[in-house]
Amino acid sequence: MGTPTTSPARLSDAYAAMRQRVAAAAERSGRPGDAVNVVAVTKYAAPDQIRQLVELGHADLGESRAQQLQQRVPQLAEYLERRDRMADVSDNKDRAAVPDKVRWHMIGQLQRNKAKQIAPLVDLIHSVDSLRLAEELQAIAGKREQQVDLLIQVNIAGETDKGGVALPAAVHLAETIDSMLDLRLRGLMCMAPYADDPEQARPVFKRCAELFSEVRKEGIGGETFNVLSMGMSGDYEVAIEEGANVVRIGSALFGDG
Ligand SMILES: *Cc1c(COP(=O)(O)O)cnc(C)c1O
Repeated sequence: MGTPTTSPARLSDAYAAMRQRVAAAAERSGRPGDAVNVVAVTKYAAPDQIRQLVELGHADLGESRAQQLQQRVPQLAEYLERRDRMADVSDNKDRAAVPDKVRWHMIGQLQRNKAKQIAPLVDLIHSVDSLRLAEELQAIAGKREQQVDLLIQVNIAGETDKGGVALPAAVHLAETIDSMLDLRLRGLMCMAPYADDPEQARPVFKRCAELFSEVRKEGIGGETFNVLSMGMSGDYEVAIEEGANVVRIGSALFGDG
């Protein structure tokens, strides 16, 4: 991946356009325009672009690689602290838009041997797809006495080269995770196979939304089982139409290098 080419003006335009399209899709699905949370995926972003996005008022950021998270979480935290101290002195008016705290999301495959470093850095792990990873996270959460919020990633389309638990095994994994004391099962995540036409993703998103309702109906995860993370730059509008309330958007904001 090369250096992103998005200029500051282009990033704020792309951000505004994306928010509008997200809101319009939410309304098409019969929900308020602000019903969908956007995770800005920063894997192709430069550090100053991440800061710019936060300055625009954006609070949810996602990374797919553990190493990037380990660099970027403290980098941005330090920047925000410094900015806060300066604002105290200068009484900066612009400060109102900036969120007090950003929330980081781990969206990519998480190796068990990285779980211990990553769990304390993020607010939500989108990509739990095995019992062994769940058990590792439970052990970490138990030791820290700090619940870990997570989504189960489901491989709806059965792509062999992608992560995610197989569809027939998903409900059982959900029940097992739900029984673990220090894990909080917040919902499901899925990815559609790559396609030029976003309509091709619709059946995948529909199936994932059905599974989400099914798990919910059975009471697995309880009241806080309420996150359906699906849709990326190429297909987020279709995902929202099918019920996503979290989308993960990278290249539509930052370019893809
Ligand atoms: C990279 C990535 C995204 C964002 O993809 P874009 O097409 O750049 O929007 C979303 N989800 C996951 C899991 C990713 O790895």
